[in-house]
This record gives sequence, C-alpha cells and structure tokens, in this order.
Amino acid sequence: MWGVPSAVFAADGTRTPSAPSYTVTLTSNTSGSTWTGHESITFSNPSADPLTEVYLRLWDNYHGTCPSTPVTVTNVTGGTPSPLSVSCTALKITLATALNQNQTASVGFDLSIVVPAGADRFGRDGSYNFIGNALPVLAVRDASGWHLDPYSNNGESFYSLISNYAVTLDHPTSLLVPATGTSVDTPGTSGRTVTKATANNVREFAWAAGPFVKTTSTTTTGVVVNVYRVSSISSSSAASMMTTAKNALVAHAGRFGAYPYGEADVVLDNNFWFGGMEYPGFVLDVISSTALAHELAHQWWYGIVGDDEYNSPWLDESFTDYATDLYNGVSGTNCWNNVSWQSSAEKISNSMAYWDAHSNRYGTVVYTYGKCALHDLRRTIGTTAMTNLLRNYAAAHWYGVSTTAEFKAAAQAATTVNLSSFWTTHRIDG
Ligand SMILES: [Zn+2]
Repeated sequence: MWGVPSAVFAADGTRTPSAPSYTVTLTSNTSGSTWTGHESITFSNPSADPLTEVYLRLWDNYHGTCPSTPVTVTNVTGGTPSPLSVSCTALKITLATALNQNQTASVGFDLSIVVPAGADRFGRDGSYNFIGNALPVLAVRDASGWHLDPYSNNGESFYSLISNYAVTLDHPTSLLVPATGTSVDTPGTSGRTVTKATANNVREFAWAAGPFVKTTSTTTTGVVVNVYRVSSISSSSAASMMTTAKNALVAHAGRFGAYPYGEADVVLDNNFWFGGMEYPGFVLDVISSTALAHELAHQWWYGIVGDDEYNSPWLDESFTDYATDLYNGVSGTNCWNNVSWQSSAEKISNSMAYWDAHSNRYGTVVYTYGKCALHDLRRTIGTTAMTNLLRNYAAAHWYGVSTTAEFKAAAQAATTVNLSSFWTTHRIDG
C-alpha cells in the first residue's frame, strides 16, 4: 500500500473520515457521456488523532493519460488542494481547520466527468454509458495510515466506508439512468428529466445512461429488481437474467441477512470484457447466470460487509464465489485436490499488489482456491456451524469493515476444532 508509516500518525486505528454524506448535482450532454456539476462531502472524524487533510480518490483517472484526465475537480472549498498524486487518482485537500475527534467538516468542488470509449465499468459502448467509480470519494485512514493504493484493472482497490448519497442527474428524457439507490424522476427543461437518486448506507455510487430497455419485477421478499438491457440483448435473455436476479437475491439474503436497499438494478451488455461488476444496488453483467449470482452476492461481501479490497481481496471475492456455489448447489467436493501452488509466495490472502504482478493467477487462487477453502472450512467445522458463522459474521460487520484476522477469530470461536493448521494449509494469512 501507499501511505505514511503508522508511527507518524493514526496511532489510533479508528477508520476516518467516517459517515460521509455526498451531495452531487450533475447535468449531462445529449449523449450522456459528459457530466458536469458540483459535489460536496460532509464527514466526521471519530479518531482521537486530528484530521488535518482528506484525500479524494479520482479512481477513473486511471482511464486517462495523466495529467490528461477524464475526471476533473476544480474550485475546491473547505480546504486547499495539492497537485494530483498516485497517477492522478488521488487529490489531497488540506483542511482549512484541523478536525478534532467527533467534529464534522465539509469539502466541495466543481466536477467534470468525460466517459471514455469502451465497454467497461467506466466506459461508453455505442449509445450506452457505464459510469462506475466516477464520483470522487474519500480515502480511508486507519492504523496503517492513509490508504492511497493504485487503481487495479484486474480487480478492485475501492476501499471505502459506509456513506450516504443524494445524487441529482439532469439528462435527456430519451436516456434511462439506472443508478445506485432509489430514484425519483421529475420533468426538467424541454426534453430533459431530472433523476434524484438517494442511497443510504452504501460504499459508492454508480450509474449508467443510455437508451436501455427496462423491465421491472419484485422478489418474493419485496425487493424491486430492474433489468436494463442494451438493444442487442433479447427480451428472453433479459427475462432469464431477471429470474436469476430475483432468485439469487432471495437466496443470498436467506444466508447472510435481508437485502437492505429495497431495489437492485441489473444492467446487461454482452460486450463487457469481464463477466460482471458490482456496485451497491447496481451491477453490470453479461448474460451469465453465474456471473449475475456472483455480482449480487457482492451486495453482502464488499457492499454490506466491507473490506479493504486492495489489501484483502479474498474477503470479498472468495466469499462471493462461495456464495455463488451455494446458490448453484455446488458443494466443492474434492475441489481442494486440484490446488497447485505456483510458488511459496502465492497465498489466497495476498493483496492486489501481488495479483497485479501475477494477474494470470488472480482468478485461480482468489476465486477458485478461495471458495474451495471456504467449502473446506464448512467440512471442517460442520455445515450448521458454517451457516451460523457467515450469518453472524455478516451481522457483526453489517455496514462495517471485515478483516482477515477478525474472520479467522470468528471462525475459531464457532468450532472446537483448532483451525491453526487449516489456515496454514489453505494459505490464509492475517
Ligand atoms: Zn467478484
């Protein structure tokens, strides 16, 4: 990771700034590929160590050629901005006044987002714009200091704390804008619509804009599911994905706790270079039942139960793939027999720094070996203990952050079997 050694500050390991409240107002061009407006963020400092600065993460500047960037922040208020750092993905703002424990402050800025070409989590595929990780978000300071990790194109670096969002999107009426949270549309100026999206207790906010075809249904537990498809996807494919979405949301909720957001948007395009991508209440997906069940399981593992996605990607990916296996009725019998380590340094619990240097092993180790390890944990401690462990662990970290050490302690507390050799054998450190 990037950051200042913990001895310098953040001796108090409390994660800060906390409880961010984001208020965003953006207006698009006619194609929905450029958005301009304003963002403000109110936050507090629960740490005994004063907060003298905050960092904005401009994650999507990875998709530009620094210093030419698709996300531009100007006219900062509430503090003094430094030059962009971490390949233009971080902006330090020195606060006007240091924030002592339990005090609240705000920063604000003008914002411009230009969506680049490409069927990507931040990209434009023909008439369709996918706008993930585009809103500047606060970096986290904890016992390790500031987390200023680089963007990872192989996975996620998006470590964030639970937040509230109020996002107003002014766009042509011809474009639908699926988004995190729940939305209310009102008429704008001629030919335009103003969509107000509200999302509470989420880690980030994503949206899309394009002439999607939308279908809506409701799960047996009352969750509204909207499926948005690009024109090249058939209505029957969309209907099949709707069925998967509803079934997966109900199944995951039954295992890990009720889905709290009321609504989920599934955005389908078969041109994505990946199978799917998770955002709170909003997923991008190709036509794949397994990919969709996976992205929806992320609503619990990464979304509701957060983690440092850069340093501990297994905490969301292995758990999510395990949940996907459970949904598919896959028991993982003997799957550990297929494990073949490439080196002594290769571990399920490695960080994205390792996987970005060994990208051809990321899926095999973190997804496949990781879910097999959890199947093995179930066989080791028993199905009932495993079921209770995951449900109770989710409840204990609901809207919080999970760490490997905390999961290992919770697992050990759930069984009389000494798990020390289990973690060693399965290469889960921490
Ligand atoms: Zn995943």
